[in-house]
Amino acid sequence: MTQKSPSSSSSDAVVSAKGAARARSGHLWIYRSDVTRKPQAETGSVVRVVDHRGRFVALAHYGKESEITLRIISKDDVEITRDFWQTRLRAAARWRERVVMDTDAYRLVHAEGDLLPGLIIDRYGDCFALQTLTRGMEALKAMWTELLVEEFHPRLIAERNDAKVRQLEGLPMINSLLYSAVGQPAWERRHPCLPASVSRSLPETPQAGMPALPGSLPMAPQGADEENEDNPPVWPTAADDLFITENGIRFRIDLFEGQKTGAFLDQRENRAAAMRYARGRGLDCFSFHGSFALHMAKGCERVTAVDISEPAIESARRNAELNGVTNVEFVEANAFDLLRDYDDAGERFDTIVLDPPAFAKNRGAIEAALRGYKEINLRALRLLNQGGVLITCSCSYHVGEELFLEVLAEAARDAGRAVQVVEKRAQSRDHPILLTVPETYYLKCIVARVMD
Ligand code: SAH
Repeated sequence: MTQKSPSSSSSDAVVSAKGAARARSGHLWIYRSDVTRKPQAETGSVVRVVDHRGRFVALAHYGKESEITLRIISKDDVEITRDFWQTRLRAAARWRERVVMDTDAYRLVHAEGDLLPGLIIDRYGDCFALQTLTRGMEALKAMWTELLVEEFHPRLIAERNDAKVRQLEGLPMINSLLYSAVGQPAWERRHPCLPASVSRSLPETPQAGMPALPGSLPMAPQGADEENEDNPPVWPTAADDLFITENGIRFRIDLFEGQKTGAFLDQRENRAAAMRYARGRGLDCFSFHGSFALHMAKGCERVTAVDISEPAIESARRNAELNGVTNVEFVEANAFDLLRDYDDAGERFDTIVLDPPAFAKNRGAIEAALRGYKEINLRALRLLNQGGVLITCSCSYHVGEELFLEVLAEAARDAGRAVQVVEKRAQSRDHPILLTVPETYYLKCIVARVMD
């Protein structure tokens, strides 16, 4: 048997032994410092990665502006075609069919977790939000839009490329509408998947400044969109009417402006858990649009929801009204201050949720983050009645589960309470964790019970 001799061309990226070993161990990132010869290739293109002996390592997206210069997309030397990406998208969708329940909003593609580095797709009913966080995925934006249209017949696809990490890739901040089905009446009628509510919600006149559809998307046949009285033209809306239902609770989603891509979908299963533990007097700190609070309201007599952001509290109030919920009060405040004030005033609760933003956005911020986590958890543990339950989260990747548990143990000790760990939870299963890419496991959610 003849062995294919290794070879490399100038369009290949050559990586160090360390870089090759990391890639072969299943990580999907190769740092600039491990690239010993840059590929002669456009940024955003697919390149072959070879080791110092010229042996094939993987295929990767090349982002010359990024510290993570290579993102592995295949460990096999295959042709990267539209079908290749479609297969990955379908695999991601099939997994969601198995694990996503009790919601019409979920993460369809979770970047590295779905072997699609740099690509995030969130689904909100018949609307989709797309994020391309690398040069490689940015270059494929039109293709992903087309594939989503083909596979899911959406009403709208929004581009939520306002994530700060894009700056590290040299990519601009953009929020825009990539696709709207409802600008094309004839086309819409030919696609029964579009819900009737779409037509009902449309304004009567065309809106100015609508972006054109990506070139190769299916267009209405010529002449089919002629206007007549029975067949008025319909035009895209800005998705003002986008509502989702999660665990039986309705939320209005702001697809273009809301935090993340409109909601924190990664906490969905933890919110369902919080609903199961909820009883007595509840407190939801860092509430955003009221998601934990409205879940807790099902089991608690009354709930206080706290957020520092006025728009967040406003949308939380609207969501409570939308669901006819009357046992939640909304407080616009700094949770650190409010927890201290409640503690000073001797207030008591039975169920507390802490879901702060990532305190440690990078390694340098770990110390300060630990102090922050300790402070809020210490206060929360002091505020709980005997038998009370704390549902406490950290979405800082840099504070791992072990470290987070250590902080909680310190907080329990300082609060003088005996605390049981009831459950160790993570992000919802539509945000898969890739075992060999530890960065994909970022959300910890500990359910703890105060015993004395
Ligand atoms: N629990 C929410 C997500 C929370 S995101 C959900 O499940 O949907 C974090 C929230 O914390 C944001 O809405 C942000 O406005 C809020 N926040 C940030 N710092 C805060 C502070 N010091 N006090 C209160 N809220 C804060």
